[in-house]
Amino acid sequence: MFAITNDNDILKDFRNIGYKDFSDSKDEQAMKEALDKVAKEFGKVYPIVIDGERYARDERITSINPSNLDECVGYVSKADEKMVNLALDTATKRFEEWKFVSPKERAEYLFKTAEIMKKRRFELDAWMVYEVGKNWIEADADTAEAIDFLEYYGRQMLRYAEGVPVVQIPTEKTEFVYIPLGVGVVIPPWNFPAAILTGMTSAALVTGNTVVLKPASIASIIGYKIFEMFEDAGIPKGVLNFVPGTGPEIGDLLVSSPKTRFINFTGSRAVGIRINELAAKVQPGQKWLKRVILEMGGKDAVVVDETADLEAAADGIVASAFGFQGQKCSAGSRAIVVKEVYDEVLEKVVEKTKKLKVGDTRYKETYLGPVSSKEAFDKVMKYIEIGKKEARLVYGGNPVEGKNGYYIEPTIFANADRNARISQEEIFGPVVAFIKASDFDDAMEIANGTDYGLTGSLYSRSRERIEKAKKVFHVGNLYFNRKCTGALVGVHPFGGFNLSGTDSKAGGPDYLLLLMQGKSISEKIR
Ligand code: NAD
Repeated sequence: MFAITNDNDILKDFRNIGYKDFSDSKDEQAMKEALDKVAKEFGKVYPIVIDGERYARDERITSINPSNLDECVGYVSKADEKMVNLALDTATKRFEEWKFVSPKERAEYLFKTAEIMKKRRFELDAWMVYEVGKNWIEADADTAEAIDFLEYYGRQMLRYAEGVPVVQIPTEKTEFVYIPLGVGVVIPPWNFPAAILTGMTSAALVTGNTVVLKPASIASIIGYKIFEMFEDAGIPKGVLNFVPGTGPEIGDLLVSSPKTRFINFTGSRAVGIRINELAAKVQPGQKWLKRVILEMGGKDAVVVDETADLEAAADGIVASAFGFQGQKCSAGSRAIVVKEVYDEVLEKVVEKTKKLKVGDTRYKETYLGPVSSKEAFDKVMKYIEIGKKEARLVYGGNPVEGKNGYYIEPTIFANADRNARISQEEIFGPVVAFIKASDFDDAMEIANGTDYGLTGSLYSRSRERIEKAKKVFHVGNLYFNRKCTGALVGVHPFGGFNLSGTDSKAGGPDYLLLLMQGKSISEKIR
C-alpha cells in the first residue's frame, strides 16, 4: 500500500485508502488466491432482491469473461415490469422510515460496508478481472475508489447533518436543514463497476433516500456482490433494492415512473439525453419535478507544447489513452501536440505503446486486456476503419490474432483533422488520434472544439501558459503535467461540462447536496 488506511477517528479526517502493490509477493499471492476462488464460483445464478426477498426468473443476463469467451462468469435474473413496480413500491414504502433514521446511523452503514469491502478487496478485484477484463492494478484502483466513496460520503453526511447557519433575527429562531428527496433510481455504467456503482448508491442512501439499483448488464455480478456488502452491513430491507436488467428493457420504466423522485445516472451521452427527456415529463400522479444527475461521455485531450518534458508527456498520453483499454470517460483519446515537437512526441508514444503487454487480465503482467463485449469490439473496429480513411494509421489497428476474447491492438492515428469523427466522437476503446496544433493557443482551441468537456491535461513548463489554460481550457477536471485519468475521491471532485453531463462532481464536497433538498424552519419566539 502506498498510503494510509483509516485513522482512528472515523468521523474526522478522510484519507484515500491507496492501492495494493502487486510487486509485493504477499499481495500477489492474495490476488492469485482470490482469482482461483472466484473462478470456482463461475456459472452461479444471481437473483433480483426487493425488500430483502430474492426472486429468480428464467429470463437471465449471461455474463461472459471478455478475456476468454468460453468462460461464463455467471447468470443474473432479469427484472420485468412487475419486479420494477414492486421495487419502486417497496422503496416508496421504506422511505417513510429510512428518511427519519439519523444521518449518523446512515453514515455508519457506509463505514461498515467499507470495512466489508476492505476484507473482500481481492475478491472484488478478481470479479472485475473476470467480468469486465480489468487488469490487476485497474481492478484494485476501482475497489479502492469504491472504499473511498463510502468513507468520504459518510463523513460528508456528518458534516451536512450539522445543518447550515442562517441569519438569526430577534423575533424568530431560524434553522436550515437538509432532508432527503425520496426514491432514487441509480443507473451506473459497467466500466467502473465497483467505484461508480458504490459511489452513486452510497451517496443516495446516506442522504436518506431509498434506492432501486439497476446495475449495468455486463457488470451485473459485480453489482450483486456490492449489493451483498451493503446488505451484510445491515442496511434495512427495502432501503436498497437490486433490480438487474438491460437498459432498453427496464430503463424507461424506472425513469418514467411517477414514484421515481430522482435519477442518478452515469453512462453514455445518448442514454443520458434520453433519460433527461423522459424524466422531464410529469406523469399522472407525479407530485414533483424529477431531479436528474447525469454524468456522460468525453473526448478528452492531452495537450503538449514545445516547452514540455516530452518523455513525461509521452508517458501521460500512453497511460491516458490505453489504461483499461481506453474504456474510461476520462480517457485521453486525443493527443494535441504543437508542431515543433509533434513528430518527436508521436515517435515516443509509438515506442512506448509497442512495449504494452496485451492479453488475458488474469495474469499479473498484462497491461491491456480485451474490450468489454462484442458490441464494444464491433464499435471500436468500426471507428478504426473510419480512422483509416480520415487519418494515418501509425500503429495497431487490428484485432489481436489467436486469442479467444475481444482483444484490439492499442491503436494510434496521426495527422487527424481536428473535426474528423475520430477527433470528435467517443470511441471508448484503445484508440488515440494525434492532432497537430500550430501553437499553444491553437491547441487550446482544438482541445475545446468538441461537444464534451470532461477531462483535459496540459504538459508545459510555461507558467504563463498553465495560468492561461486554467482560464480557457473548458473541462470539469483539468490536470497539468500528469495524465488526464485517475481522479481521486476527495482530491479531484469529478464531473464534466457541456455534453459530458451535469457536472455533479462525484467525490466532491457538494455532491451530497444534489441528493437532498433544503428546508427552512422558523419559530416565532417573541
Ligand atoms: P450506457 O449508457 O450504455 O449504459 C449506462 C447504464 O445505463 C447501464 O446501466 C445501462 O444498462 C443503462 N441503460 C442503457 N439504456 C438505458 C435506457 N434506455 N434507460 C435507462 N438506462 C439505460 O453506458 P456504458 O456503456 O455502461 O458506459 C460507458 C459510457 O459511460 C461512456 O460514454 C463513458 O464515457 C460514460 N461514463 C461516464 C462517466 C462520468 O463520470 N462522466 C464515468 C464512467 C463512464
